[in-house]
Amino acid sequence: MIVVGADGPGKLQVRDVPAPIGNGRALVRLERAGVCGTDLKILDGAMPVAYPVIMGHEMVGVVSRTGSQGRLPCGTRVLVNPGIHCRNCYLCDTDRPHLCRHGGLLGRDMDGVFAEQIALEEHFLHVVPDVIDPDASGLLQVLGTVVHSQQTVAVMPGSVAVVIGLGVSGLLHLQLLRAGGVDRVIGITRSAWKLDLATRLGALAVATPEDAAGVVADVSGGRGADLVVEAVGTGSTVAQAIELCGSGGEVIVYGTVTGEGGPMPYYQLYFKEITLRYPRAARPEDYDRAIALAASGRIRLDPLVTASFPLENAPDALAAARSGEHLKVLLTP
Ligand SMILES: [Zn+2]
Ligand SMILES: [Zn+2]
Repeated sequence: MIVVGADGPGKLQVRDVPAPIGNGRALVRLERAGVCGTDLKILDGAMPVAYPVIMGHEMVGVVSRTGSQGRLPCGTRVLVNPGIHCRNCYLCDTDRPHLCRHGGLLGRDMDGVFAEQIALEEHFLHVVPDVIDPDASGLLQVLGTVVHSQQTVAVMPGSVAVVIGLGVSGLLHLQLLRAGGVDRVIGITRSAWKLDLATRLGALAVATPEDAAGVVADVSGGRGADLVVEAVGTGSTVAQAIELCGSGGEVIVYGTVTGEGGPMPYYQLYFKEITLRYPRAARPEDYDRAIALAASGRIRLDPLVTASFPLENAPDALAAARSGEHLKVLLTP
């Protein structure tokens, strides 16, 4: 079967390898896999991994052989929870399996999902109903992490929210805030077509980073945002998130800042008593909630898929994802 791996920084490899042996685990055949910024960072060497590694952590597929638990019959569509955990440690026992130190992320800490078939224990698989079409289902893993990120924030109908960065995750955050009853969401990016799309997906206002402070002041009556979601992953956008946030507000740093970051407005964090949240991954129940939200049609996933490539053309898919001209790029069987 075909797999796509990184053999070292900048070394992308499409290889033919033997299919996995189930060994009590379920076998899942690829339906869609999503290319993510994390995959690009792994390929660039910006994220510490042990090479070689099969990349990818965003996948939906079809069970092709039932695991020993016998819970999921052949033919069941499933979303893969790529956050492998031991189910037997302090963090797992206290409902934080996504932070388990004995597991890791598929495609980063262990071989991932850019493969025609993978073998996984059934408790990492979540049933996906047929009402969610194949391309849309390729976004469910990201939606799960977005759902997790917003799980604990105190959004109210009168809240003003800002989303910095309108890639896939930013546009999902925007829609989830709207679905949660936040009427005033401001989207921020440099890209004109992403600003248009954000408006169509429910943003009340949009702005470039340069105009953001003025627009947030207008919409919030000068008090600043109650919630800012940073969905870029750079030190400067985290700093801007803190600056746009009002007193008593919350900032979710959803983007992954690797390396040193940069100067931070620490005094503003203190003076405005800002709550900073740093979600890493989703819990199993976040994936079930994401699937239910997508199935209900309250979150639109289709407009966020802009390209797809067969698995063997992964180099083209990763180049497309890197170009900045796409939202989600998918791999297909
Ligand atoms: Zn991802
Ligand atoms: Zn554990």
